[in-house]
Amino acid sequence: AGELLLYCRPGFEPDLAAELTEKAMALGWQGEADIKPDAGFVRFIAAGDAPANALHRALPLASLVFARQSLLALPPLLLPREDRLTPILDQVVASGWSFDSVWQETPDTNEAKALAGLIKALKRPLESLLKKRGALRRKAGGRRLHLLWSDGDRVQLGMSFPGNRSELPGGIRRLRFPHRAPSRSTLKLEEAWHEFIPRDEWGERLEEGMQAADLGAAPGGWTWQLVQRGMHVYAIDNGPMDKGLMATGLVEHLREDGFVWEPPGRLDWLVCDIVDKPSRVMAMVQRWLVRRWCREAVFNLKLPMKRRWEEVSRCLSGLESALAEAGVRAEVACRHLYHDREEVTVHVRILGVA
Ligand code: SAM
Repeated sequence: AGELLLYCRPGFEPDLAAELTEKAMALGWQGEADIKPDAGFVRFIAAGDAPANALHRALPLASLVFARQSLLALPPLLLPREDRLTPILDQVVASGWSFDSVWQETPDTNEAKALAGLIKALKRPLESLLKKRGALRRKAGGRRLHLLWSDGDRVQLGMSFPGNRSELPGGIRRLRFPHRAPSRSTLKLEEAWHEFIPRDEWGERLEEGMQAADLGAAPGGWTWQLVQRGMHVYAIDNGPMDKGLMATGLVEHLREDGFVWEPPGRLDWLVCDIVDKPSRVMAMVQRWLVRRWCREAVFNLKLPMKRRWEEVSRCLSGLESALAEAGVRAEVACRHLYHDREEVTVHVRILGVA
């Protein structure tokens, strides 16, 4: 018994719910997703006796596509406006858990932004009362208490554990737009690197002198990121590339079809932001990976359709089986990033060949 609380981009609740239901069921869990349109979060209520923290562990955040944050949650509270804190404190104390930090958050919606003042006003009294009652203390195993405010009188409490959570408020990675980059899309590739490559491995995996291909490169936001790392880039696109980028001498612009172009030799990186059918993009990237034309790849799957989880799931299982069949061992991850809109980002790293 118990429930999980997961944050997502508003509008993607049905996709996250479908993903959770399917993955939980595959692990032998029964449960039900509770969603409200555009709420920016999904509750997943586990049925039966097994404790929900086992389910929380079995569905690590990094393995979920549409979740930005994943919490083990307590039932939602409806608060009296004259005393919001007492019910919150009572629920925390009754749970028996203690924490070493508290985060107050809101869903990623415009309405919820109006709650900033309330949250600020509650911060000090909340923390001091939690301390008084022993629920907030030093060295509580890194556990964090989250209060997700969806309205002035509606809050849901959840907890997160180190190693299975986003360390960012709201699960959102805000990045500053580099003003010299040719397009805002640039942030998608930068965010993908933060998401999929541990910071201490950037030196060896995003290294100066590496060779990359960028399919659907124009005007060059993604190429710009690769060039910033000192890589040589084949930029494949019929459209024009940014002049400043071309002036670096690191970019070779080829007006060719990204679906048929073949690299002159093995490259380190393939990136692709072409707007086309997910299955078509996937088939092309699969060919690259099976022939080992690159070591790592980041590409987007555009999802204008209704059943986005089904589409992503189909594409990912297709990829897994193609790689297995070709004897290519690889790490595959797929996430709906903050800078992604109607699309998800896939990362593949080839580990070896059987
Ligand atoms: N990632 C780019 C950036 O950061 O500036 C934006 C890419 S834009 C979303 C998609 C690009 O794919 C367009 O410039 C389009 O010309 C290109 N494109 C579409 N079909 C293509 C194909 N078959 N081969 C190569 N490029 C293609």
